[in-house]
Parts: sequence; structure tokens; C-alpha cells
Amino acid sequence: PALHRQRHEFVIDFVRSYKPKKVVDLGCSECSLLKQLKFHLEIELLAGVDIDGAILKKKMCGLAPLSTDYLQPRNDQLRIDLYQGSVTQKDARLIGFDLVTSIELIEHLTLADVKLFSEVVFGYMTPVAVIVSTPNADFNPLFRRMSGFRHSDHKFEWSRAEFKSWALKVCLDYGYEVEFSGVGQAPPGYQENVGFCSQIGVFHRLGVSEVCNTLCSTDAEDVSSYTLLYSKIF
Ligand code: SAM
Repeated sequence: PALHRQRHEFVIDFVRSYKPKKVVDLGCSECSLLKQLKFHLEIELLAGVDIDGAILKKKMCGLAPLSTDYLQPRNDQLRIDLYQGSVTQKDARLIGFDLVTSIELIEHLTLADVKLFSEVVFGYMTPVAVIVSTPNADFNPLFRRMSGFRHSDHKFEWSRAEFKSWALKVCLDYGYEVEFSGVGQAPPGYQENVGFCSQIGVFHRLGVSEVCNTLCSTDAEDVSSYTLLYSKIF
């Protein structure tokens, strides 16, 4: 399957094993991951954030329930909220989620903004788990005719060592542990070890107990810097 599908499949496999109830996709763009996640019945709150309000407005109608959605009855309601906003800014409505996904987003931020992103996601939103994917620069020599980055809007593309060093610092600063993975294998017979095409870090907050996830977040400042563009209950 195409690489973007493999990245989404990776998230869906995680959702199947960990069964998070509240999930937010940062940089949700055309909402294609959200559209797949809405079929996972254990999810009660699904949110998406993107800085590009126009793309959300264009694509959000695709999240509406189809008549066939009702063939599989849910025990609980599902709410889907879409926000226009920047991941460099805090919004109290996104505190205390079970899972935050950031798929091919951070490489669109300046390094100064990546620092803010880390603080907002790991230090403020304090989710139980975070999945971050970003291009692996070690893989780039396999794209023969490429010069520069994979996409003109990318501000950087990190080697595995650079990604690891950012991720380990985040863990140290905010109390998480991380496992490295990825999607997109090098073709068979390729000699050098270049890793995956997209590298993925899966973070888990240390010392999480069920109670803590709600208690820890109650003293957070009440800011709302995002604009709610869509909110529907199924
Ligand atoms: N996550 C999508 C997926 O898996 O199909 C693709 C993401 S796309 C490559 C990057 C997205 O990040 C764009 O939709 C862009 O508008 C969004 N973005 C860039 N900077 C952002 C920011 N500071 N805050 C929120 N979203 C941002």
C-alpha cells in the first residue's frame, strides 16, 4: 500500500491494541485518518487540529455519518471536533487525551516551533500516548532524482540520530518513554541499513494511572486559542 496509508494503518493498529477513548490528530489536513478512526467503536471523542482552516472546511463534510454507519450500533456516543489552530499554541480543550497523533507534521515547523510543539503536546496536553511520524533523511539516497527535501514546504528532514535525540530530550523533559519504529521498507537486496522511509516514535507517559489522567490536568490554565469549526455527535 501507499506510504500515507501505511502510516495511517500504523496508527489504526495502535488504536486496536490500546483502545484509546479520546484521540486527537494534529495537522489532520484532509481528515483522512479521522475518517478511518471514526469506525473504531471504543473511541468517544475524536478531534482534529490544523492551521489551515480552508482545508478543514472543504473536507469536514466527509466526516458526517453515512446511513450505513448506523448498521453497527455503538454503546457510547462519538463526538468529532475540528479546530483551526496552531500546534505551537495551547488550548485547554485538548488536555488529557489518551492518544495524540502527529503524522508528517513536525517537518513543516521551524525548529523554534518544534520546541513549542514539544512543550504544548508533552508538557501541556499531557496525553497518555503520542505517535509522531516524520521523514527519515537516512532513506533519502534511495530517491535517486531528488534534490533538497521531499516536499518544498519541509523545513528539515531528520536522520534517525537527529529524530532520536529530539525524542529522548522530550522524554527527559516531560516524563515519557519512546519506542522507535517506522513504515516503508527499503527494497529487498538493498545493502545498506537506511531504516524506514517514514520514521515513527511511539511515546508513553511514565507513571500513568487511570485516575491521574484526569486529576493531573485539572489545575491547568484555561486557555482556548483554537477556533472550533465543526462539532458533531453521532
Ligand atoms: N497528517 C496528514 C496525513 O497523515 O495525511 C498530513 C499532514 S500534511 C503533510 C501537514 C499538515 O500540517 C498540513 O495540513 C498543514 O496545514 C498542517 N500544519 C502546518 N503547520 C501547522 C501548525 N503550526 N499547526 C497545525 N497544523 C499545521
